[in-house]
Order: sequence, then C-alpha cells, then structure tokens
Amino acid sequence: MNAPIRNHFLQIPGPTNSPHAVLQASARPTIDHRGSEFAEETMGLLADLKRIFGTTQPVVVYPCSGTGAWEAALVNVLSPGDHILAYETGHFSSLWRELAERLGLVVDYVPGDWRSGVDAERIFERLSRDRTQKVKAVTVVHNETSTGVTSDIPAVRSAIDAAGHSALLLVDTISSLGSIPYEHEGWKVDVTIAASQKGLMVPPGLGFNAVSAKALEASQHARLPRAYWSWRAILAANEDGFFPYTPATNLLMALRTALNLLEGEGMAAVYARHARYAAATRAAVEGWGLEVVCRNPKEYSHTLTGVVTPEQFHADLVRQRILQSFDMSLGAGLGRHAGKIFRIGHVGAMTDLTLAGALCGIEMGLGLSSVPIKRAGVTAALNYLEATLPVDI
Ligand code: PLP
Repeated sequence: MNAPIRNHFLQIPGPTNSPHAVLQASARPTIDHRGSEFAEETMGLLADLKRIFGTTQPVVVYPCSGTGAWEAALVNVLSPGDHILAYETGHFSSLWRELAERLGLVVDYVPGDWRSGVDAERIFERLSRDRTQKVKAVTVVHNETSTGVTSDIPAVRSAIDAAGHSALLLVDTISSLGSIPYEHEGWKVDVTIAASQKGLMVPPGLGFNAVSAKALEASQHARLPRAYWSWRAILAANEDGFFPYTPATNLLMALRTALNLLEGEGMAAVYARHARYAAATRAAVEGWGLEVVCRNPKEYSHTLTGVVTPEQFHADLVRQRILQSFDMSLGAGLGRHAGKIFRIGHVGAMTDLTLAGALCGIEMGLGLSSVPIKRAGVTAALNYLEATLPVDI
C-alpha cells in the first residue's frame, strides 16, 4: 500500500490521534527493562501517573487493553459468587457485566435507557435494601463511550455512603481520564480502570488500575483466581522501578512523553479544551437540526458526541459515505444503537481546525447522504469556537 499523502481524519472516540512527539517516543530503540535506565524512568512515570488519576495511592500498569484492566480490577478484589451492583449506561457497561458474569460473579444490573447516566438515587435504594451487605462492589462507567453520556461519580459515592454500605466503588474512566476532570482519591473511588488510547493520546496497549487502600486490603482476601493480573507481584516489582514480566517498554516511553505534553499544557487547560470542543460539536449538531443521544445537558460528554440519524437513514451508510469521500472515520453506533447513531470523537490531540475540518466533513457527508439537515451546523460551531477562543492562544 502506498503511504497516504495526508493524515487520515481519525474522529472515533478512541483510539485517538497520537501527537508526533508521542509516536516518536515510542519509536526510540527499546531499552533493557531490567536495567537501571528503565527503572529510573519507570519510577518517575509511576509517580507522575498518579497525578492524572488524582491519587497518592499506587497505579498498576498492564500491557493490555481496557478490557484487561476491567478483568484485573474484578479479579483482584472479588471472590467467586460475590454479588456486584452494576449500572446500565450503554454498550460498555453491558460488556463489563458480561465479563463479570463469566468470571463467576452475580451481577445485579440496574437497567438504564442508554441515553442517561447513572441515577445515584437508584444505587442508594438498591444498597439500602441490602441489609446483609451482600453486594461487594458497585461498578459504573464514568463516560459511556457508546452514548456520549457522563455520570456523576461523587453522587454515586455519596449514595453508597448514605446507604451505610461497605461495597467497593469501581469506576471505568477509559474514555474520560486525562480529558474530563477526575479525582480517584478525592471521590473515594476504590479501583479506577483506564487505558492508554483515548485522553492519554498513546496508542492502544496499556491498561491501568488506580487502587485505594481499601481495595488493596480487599485484594488480600479476594479469591478469584489471578496470576498475571495480580497486583501484589506488580506492586512489589514497581518498588524498584520494574515489572514481574516484560512490560510494553515502548508504550511506556510514549506515555512519558504524553504526560509531559498534558502537564505542559496544564490539566485545567486540557479539561477546558475538551469541554469547549464538545460544546462546539453540539452547536453543530443543533445547527444541523439533529438530535444528540445524551438527554440531560448536565451529562453531556466532553470527549464524544453521539448523534441520532433520522429513522430512514442508516447511520453506518452515512459514516461509510464520509469515509469514502473525506477519508474520515467516525464512531459507529454500538449494541442497541447500531445503525441509528454515529459518534463524533473530540478527544485527545486536537485543535480548533481539526475539529472544524471534522465538522465540515460531517456536514458535507450528511448532505451527500441526502439526510435532511440545515446547513447551519459548521457555521454555529465556528461561531462558538471564535467566541470562546482562549485569551492566550
Ligand atoms: N470501557 C469503555 C468506556 C470503553 O470506551 C472501552 C473501549 O472503547 C472499553 C471499556 C473497552 O476497552 P478496550 O477496547 O481497550 O478493551
């Protein structure tokens, strides 16, 4: 295949575009993962990683995708037959539930409509009824990537506390970490699950568990079988900057550079940038006269926007048209949203002009697909971007 002249427009909600500096870091010659240079770099990396999660407690890094990090979280703190309370926010909460069931856990799945976030009141009700404290963990997805809906994690924490319940709180931040404000320790989360390929702007291949003291304590007694995923051996080796097996050395080098870039920009600015791009995207959707999947404005995701296509138009045909005409990938509708929505990723390394370009491609693609839209989306987004340009740009 000939090398393309221009970059493909990757506007899926992860994996995201990695900055050149991050890719270049991953292309450095691999170093000895049992040598002192690696150990020194790892010690610094693990320390800095804590800041992104908002924790002073350990962050475990795995060579895996987000699903591996989910499994790691469950097997480290739970035992066969344990009950967990999971909340249905969309496709990813459903996959997490399936994985838990395959591991032999009993899942009480609070039904949701795939257009709203977690209703903490329903968590409170369920836990208040659990007088014998049978539920050992509550699992929620912070930012449901299949819908573009963000849930209020402090409200979930308060619900657990208000019910006087001892369940651990496990939160998936795979599409929010590093792009939507998050505080592992401040929000009293027990295990935060994350991955490299979205807000952290690193290619896929690293999974994370940020763990609380309570989760570490639970891991001492948990009986689900675990070997590769066990926190214990990893944390012991991490003390000296090593891993008990071959780590994804080059992805760790990429992560080092990505953290430098994020911290160089400043996390407050990074979060504000994502919020601004999300608002500009919604302005475009409204300008086209289309509907955003997320029902509650307080739950709008800053990293992606789900867009409903009118009933007689298959969303995947629109996506295909956009790919063919403009070499741009958009996220497909997943699970029950398949064919009915498309998802615009505005997460990771982006600028005003990449967002503007993406929205232009979508407006033209909708037109080429004969979807009846008003031609006011791009204009609305550009007006928003112009009016909200940060002063120091
Ligand atoms: N959870 C969320 C919120 C996700 O967005 C994804 C993937 O997009 C996953 C879990 C699964 O992660 P992975 O595909 O990296 O295994």
